[in-house]
Amino acid sequence: MTRRLLIAGNWKMNGLLQQARKLGEELASLFKEEKSPSFDMLVCPPFTALSAVQEALKDSGILLGGQDCHFKESGAHTGDISPVMLKDVGCDAVILGHSERRQDHGETSALVREKATAAHKEGLLTVICVGETEAQRDAGETLSVVGEQVRDSLPEESSANNTVIAYEPVWAIGTGKVASVQDVAEVHAFIRSEIEKVLGKENAEKMRILYGGSVKPSNAKELLSLEDVDGALVGGASLKSDDFWAIAKSQD
Ligand code: PEP
Repeated sequence: MTRRLLIAGNWKMNGLLQQARKLGEELASLFKEEKSPSFDMLVCPPFTALSAVQEALKDSGILLGGQDCHFKESGAHTGDISPVMLKDVGCDAVILGHSERRQDHGETSALVREKATAAHKEGLLTVICVGETEAQRDAGETLSVVGEQVRDSLPEESSANNTVIAYEPVWAIGTGKVASVQDVAEVHAFIRSEIEKVLGKENAEKMRILYGGSVKPSNAKELLSLEDVDGALVGGASLKSDDFWAIAKSQD
């Protein structure tokens, strides 16, 4: 089964308008120069820069995403952004259940599931993040934690067309520590088997599973060559067009 690679950038709380626009323009011109790219590319700027980056990416073929959304369409939810609003500003996708949202905002898998349903209703591709903490890994709980997050975060209507899973060990995010290729291979194969339990064999075979956690140009090739790794969710290294592009091109 060949699954098209997805290289996704999570800019987190980085990027004032001018920088965000410049980064978007640099990536758009690199992507346009590529005659027939062998990968999809997604960038997820902060909400405040979505409109500027949408303008910069226009007609480039690069997908635009938000970093979170509410499960309601509108209403009294101060500080929140709805999937309808993401769609309105030109988004194609949304990251949900990132460990920083789970940790900083107490988000549970049940909430992620509600958000995913709302995002799917708007036709957004959801990038659903799962991953264990260092303490959970040390306690031998990686597979049980990740399995539960996958099963509980995926709504019934999820399919390979509207959902991507990102496996991001929490201890590897922004730390420079990368999971070993053996660990990544084991967890990704396990995630695929969990997807099969809830969504069936066809969706499990087709659904893309990204790895995230200190991915950089020097380790991308090895990680992306693993059978069940179908792309990367990149934080720090997505803020420089050269590095992000080198990650995307590491398979060529
Ligand atoms: C992320 O936040 O999704 C991430 C993987 O960050 P980093 O690449 O900086 O570890």
